Amino acid sequence: MRLFKFFLSLVFSANCLLSFSQQSIEGLLYLDHTPVRVEFEDGRITGIFRIEELPEEYDNIYVAPGLIDNQVNGYMGVSFVDTGGELSEEGIHTITSAFWAEGITTYMPTLTTNDHDIFIKNFALLNRVKNDESTRGSIPGFHLEGPYISPEDGYRGAHPLKHVREPDWDEFMELYDASGGNIMQVTLAPEIDGAMDFISRCRETGIEVGLGHHGGSAEQITEAIDRGALIATHLGNGLANTINRHRNPLWPQLSDDRMFISIICDGFHLLPEQIRVFYRAKGKERIIITSDVSHYGGLAPGYYLNAIGDTIQLTSEGAVVYPAQNVLSGSAAPLSQGVGHVMRVTGCDLASAIQMASTNPARFYGLSDRGEIKPGMRADLILFKMEDFEMDVIKTIAAGEVVYDSSE
Ligand SMILES: [Zn+2]
Repeated sequence: MRLFKFFLSLVFSANCLLSFSQQSIEGLLYLDHTPVRVEFEDGRITGIFRIEELPEEYDNIYVAPGLIDNQVNGYMGVSFVDTGGELSEEGIHTITSAFWAEGITTYMPTLTTNDHDIFIKNFALLNRVKNDESTRGSIPGFHLEGPYISPEDGYRGAHPLKHVREPDWDEFMELYDASGGNIMQVTLAPEIDGAMDFISRCRETGIEVGLGHHGGSAEQITEAIDRGALIATHLGNGLANTINRHRNPLWPQLSDDRMFISIICDGFHLLPEQIRVFYRAKGKERIIITSDVSHYGGLAPGYYLNAIGDTIQLTSEGAVVYPAQNVLSGSAAPLSQGVGHVMRVTGCDLASAIQMASTNPARFYGLSDRGEIKPGMRADLILFKMEDFEMDVIKTIAAGEVVYDSSE
């Protein structure tokens, strides 16, 4: 703390040299709730300054780094996994802008188990838009969930069986090339043929590997972790309803301290007691809050037809239900809702919740330019209120530009 103060005073003494293009915002720092001014220039944070007090209208507004979501299937009616290949550049911009309004300044579009040609087409399109200046660097890369997952009902979840397959490095390289080398994570099942070698090759290529939609044994999970699969994807979901009380994938993934977990904190996918236990087992250092949000997110409650013509219900509480089987069919809650939910059910403070929704994913994926408020970092900043565990975003800044302002 003393070092921090010393640092602040150093920065403060340099304050008089501020150039004209410097911009700033003020709010309560999410780490310790003290009033600060964060200054930035050319898209980067240049300094954080303690201030005496905030203007009255700002006295309950926090400032934090923008949220980072590692698993996004779609939003606002736009899907990254459209089986008909309808994904468009405009649709990706729609999602990016809608996320800015929710305080999410970085996200990883996630393509789930699908036909090879649709993967190729959508990855190529995503790569073009990723480098488009108007997304302001909000898409650092992509997540491939499947198709190399368990074919078993329950573990497979909503992934279509006809497209589930064993790992094939040559096929994957075609997808990787189409993505411009921007697939940052593959989620797979460690127990299927070829998975272990595939994990090693991913790690040699610099790709993170998540274990998910699997029924791996303790031995298989440990070998996968040894080979560098260091995150359990949406732990507690993508799991059969009925499992052996001793030999199931939860215990080895929870008990191995090398492993991070991502958890869906939408209030429907996990019970409060599950989140509390996961939080105690992993601590705030090894949890990444994810949304796993689908294209139903951001839409009005009601009944919708999915890509294969089944009826899906988005309830007024925000659950996406497949009434024919009475099961959840993805999430509708953006990551911002997960921040409040994890605080409500674990009792953790705002700093811990933001760590799990921004700092941890930035560090895990090697995004060293974001996830914290420090000089030199991207000016990805959010101003928000927290009322009754609901995050109410007031303003969002992405790479130094105001991309959302609730007053406009
Ligand atoms: Zn999944």
